[in-house]
Amino acid sequence: MRGRVGWHDPGLTGSGARRAVDNVVYPERGDSRARTGLRSILIANGIARMDHLWTPWRFAYVTAADEAVRAGVPASLAAWPGDSGCVFCNLVASIDYAIEHGMSADEAEAAGGLVKRAKHCYICLNAFPYTSGHVMVLPYAHLDRLAALPRETAHEMVDLAQLTERALEKLYRPHGLNFGMNLGRAAGAGVAGHLHLHALPRWAGDTNFMTTIAETRVLPEDLPTTWRRLRETFAELG
Ligand SMILES: [Zn+2]
Repeated sequence: MRGRVGWHDPGLTGSGARRAVDNVVYPERGDSRARTGLRSILIANGIARMDHLWTPWRFAYVTAADEAVRAGVPASLAAWPGDSGCVFCNLVASIDYAIEHGMSADEAEAAGGLVKRAKHCYICLNAFPYTSGHVMVLPYAHLDRLAALPRETAHEMVDLAQLTERALEKLYRPHGLNFGMNLGRAAGAGVAGHLHLHALPRWAGDTNFMTTIAETRVLPEDLPTTWRRLRETFAELG
């Protein structure tokens, strides 16, 4: 899987790397597949895979992720002794544990890619972004259906989605945005047990020749940079 993240991936770290990031359905992908013919058919049937061209930092990240045992627990937060079995629950628990044991909130949340907390939900980076600025809004509660969310949690999720829209607009000046969630594995959810809303900026041409010809995506910004810029932008927006 190293450096070859396919449609069925996402994730944050470790064995969860295959599960954590979603198989989000974008109209552009359909167009891309149509244009690339046989290769796309092979990809769609699992015979070939879509490649991502990872930069060196990415290779180091994925290498470290492969060695992790507990999904969602960053290496620098591995002091947390638990394992919920859920990449998102593990992520927050390992961050909270580190903070409780003396790590600064900035350091712990940067390690986990958590950019903003609210009362019932939080926003974190997608570790395998479709575009730079790809984040997820999700509840702390391990719930798998939108309808299962308590009303205040659901409302806060939309509040954070609105805030995310403003942050991504302000920071990236995109031509458009995708917001979406996949409920259930059949719908493309990489982490089916824990609801999450994807939000990502889009640009005309971001499905470019590398994507259509080489089935490879190039990301111009590394995750620590994305985290720092989004952290600052969310702080400015309040
Ligand atoms: Zn969970």
